[in-house]
Amino acid sequence: MSAKLLENKVAVITGASSGIGMATARLFVENGARVVVVARREKPLVQLVESLQQAGGEALALPADVTQLDACKQTIEQTISAFGQLDMLINAAGIIANGTIETTEPAAWHQMMDINLNSVFQLTQLAVPHLARTKGTIVNVSSVTGLRAFPNVLAYCVSKAGLDQMTRCIALELAPKGIRVNAINPGVVVTNLHKTSGMDETKYQAFLEHSKTTHPLGRVGNADEIAESILFLASEKSGWITGETLSIDGGRHLTCAR
Ligand code: NDP
Repeated sequence: MSAKLLENKVAVITGASSGIGMATARLFVENGARVVVVARREKPLVQLVESLQQAGGEALALPADVTQLDACKQTIEQTISAFGQLDMLINAAGIIANGTIETTEPAAWHQMMDINLNSVFQLTQLAVPHLARTKGTIVNVSSVTGLRAFPNVLAYCVSKAGLDQMTRCIALELAPKGIRVNAINPGVVVTNLHKTSGMDETKYQAFLEHSKTTHPLGRVGNADEIAESILFLASEKSGWITGETLSIDGGRHLTCAR
């Protein structure tokens, strides 16, 4: 019998209380990884860990706000004390918010950068010494909005464009240590992201319907297929890929207004 793809690997996955991060945690455990799941809300993390353990997996819930440096330090330290190593850092925690250059409050701008970008900087910095030992991998969950400009989501677009460039710069810096760093850039995916930002159910359903027309393959994405692309980039299957921003968006990034 062949070994599982992530056998003997340990992953820290942020944003794991919901959506893409949670789907990634499930897929990683299915593939043999031990996972540390991170987000602010404890309850969904504990429920996730219980269901992963019932399925025979190994998982640890570490509730943390990734904008807080001390919480990031504890996340990495507790991962090492629980599992002895770190092989994969998956930065999936994120928020979205509407706003243009004229309407974005400075506090909202800073909050977006803190959660979507600065948290990745600080967690990555703390993880590097451990990833260097394992020749590990980092996957950042960016967005099509990092690669293309969209109106009325200014701070979000800029945070994801920054994340893409951070991915490329860090990939170059860490290549000599054998650490690979990549990002994925999804189009619209059905999760709690938009509703958490304040979109009500009716507007969200209308947005998903409209999104069928803005994604050339004629549908939105689901968290499980995004998790598959994260698994690819985190695993040895992509062993010669680094600094890549992988579009997984039904062709959305190819389109131009006509
Ligand atoms: P969800 O809202 O379902 O999940 C977001 C996750 O981020 C939650 O687990 C949330 O947990 C966590 N999170 C938010 N802020 C913090 C914080 N300060 N500290 C720790 N965790 C935090 O959305 P998605 O799964 O869709 O989002 C995951 C990533 O995918 C995001 O980076 C998003 O930008 C990106 N993405 C999503 C797309 C989509 O259409 N859904 C498209 C393109 C990219 P908690 O509230 O418990 O802290």
